[in-house]
Amino acid sequence: MKNVSLETIVSLAKRRGFVFPASEIYGGLAGFWDYGPMGVELANNIKALWWRRVVQEQDNIYGVDGAIIQNPKLWEASGHVAGFTDPLVDCKNCGGRHRADHLAGTDSTDLVELTELLKDVACPTCGKKELTAPRKYNMMMKTWVGPVEDNSSVAYLRPETAGSIFINYKNVFDSMHPKLPFGIAQIGKAFRNEIAPREFVFRVRELEQMEMQYFIPSAMQEEVYESWRKFAWDFLVEDLGIRKESISWHEHEENERAHYAAAAHDIYFNFPQGPKELWGTHNRTDFDLKSHMEASGVDLTYYDEDSKERFLPYVVESSVGVGRMFLAAMSDAYREDDLGGEVRTYLAFAPKIAPVKAMVSPLLKNKPELVEKAREVRAALKKVHPAIAWDDNGNIGKRYRRQDEIGTPWCVTIDFDTLGETPELLDTVTVRDRDTGEQKRMSVSEVAQMLQEALA
Ligand code: ATP
Repeated sequence: MKNVSLETIVSLAKRRGFVFPASEIYGGLAGFWDYGPMGVELANNIKALWWRRVVQEQDNIYGVDGAIIQNPKLWEASGHVAGFTDPLVDCKNCGGRHRADHLAGTDSTDLVELTELLKDVACPTCGKKELTAPRKYNMMMKTWVGPVEDNSSVAYLRPETAGSIFINYKNVFDSMHPKLPFGIAQIGKAFRNEIAPREFVFRVRELEQMEMQYFIPSAMQEEVYESWRKFAWDFLVEDLGIRKESISWHEHEENERAHYAAAAHDIYFNFPQGPKELWGTHNRTDFDLKSHMEASGVDLTYYDEDSKERFLPYVVESSVGVGRMFLAAMSDAYREDDLGGEVRTYLAFAPKIAPVKAMVSPLLKNKPELVEKAREVRAALKKVHPAIAWDDNGNIGKRYRRQDEIGTPWCVTIDFDTLGETPELLDTVTVRDRDTGEQKRMSVSEVAQMLQEALA
């Protein structure tokens, strides 16, 4: 399977209203992107599906939406102020800054190892072998709360959503009265001052995460860890429609794991730029609750009424970036084929995540009776799902191409037969399938039923 190039995806994303560079008219800002009309639909569909599976369909997982800025003591206790770092090298010749581990082609963040590996490496920008020794660089984004900009008012934009889950563990427990095991989930923005943001929405400075922390007795850690690994894999394949051959498992070596993790498995997706991390499952042990209990002085232990024991729960975490999932969905769905002697581009999205579910159009826009009937058909389909587009611009072929490029599964055309010119075809429409280009005559109620089944 040949990978689509990143440039192709970036250009399609811009042309068809998925993603634009942030502040584009001012020259952009590295690591920030804006989602356009199609992009926001795709991202919302992905998030809604994840929320449904993780929170709404479960009896013991609760959703929260924490503030982006919290008391900075949270990030001291979690180890982020001291340890949320990436290794960085500067070029003494051109001033270029690079991630040392990326330049060395390793997952290790060990400075001694990196120094050794980078001994003979040239700066990728200017080609000179004048790199500084690697050093740690903190990725937390700082801001000030209140009118005085001094050390006492420093706060951080959260680097991950997990922090505001741990500090709400007791609130959720006291308000919802769950028993172990139970989970808390959150979808929200996080900020990382990445040294080298790049590869489109893959590595950004303002990101969105979908995270779930599952609180368990330590004896359950292996079984729960395996079940959340399976959850991630199944979600990608069965819900997002990602091809199995596009994903693989990657187990973290000890020198690669975050400071809190006892075990970590990532799902790598074969992105346009190569296989890279998409979704992590981590065993965080009792690291977080222990740190917050020590730092805050608030008791976060759990009393198990069955065993009459008091202990700190362990945490298994499932953590994935919305942007990376978005890029995976787009690049996995990208197809080119030959339709009637012409190269055509389309996005083979699963109907559940497609920004538009179907497009309705009258064969001719200057025939009021066709337009009126088409509006009626659209209204009937909108009862199944609101994302039914209207297009009466240009010829039918052009309308199909536009919908193909945003991944609309079906195009529905109303013609004179719909109005009864051929009596036995009254109230039937032409339905064109995005992937095969085939057209079928169906009644409006059959189309509605097909949509309903595909989106259930
Ligand atoms: P990487 O090694 O690629 O920097 P990470 O191991 O630091 O990622 P985590 O801290 O485990 O990532 O974050 C959980 C998820 O958040 C990742 O699996 C990824 O999907 C997403 N993510 C992390 N950093 C970024 C970023 N800078 N831009 C976009 N998504 C990100």
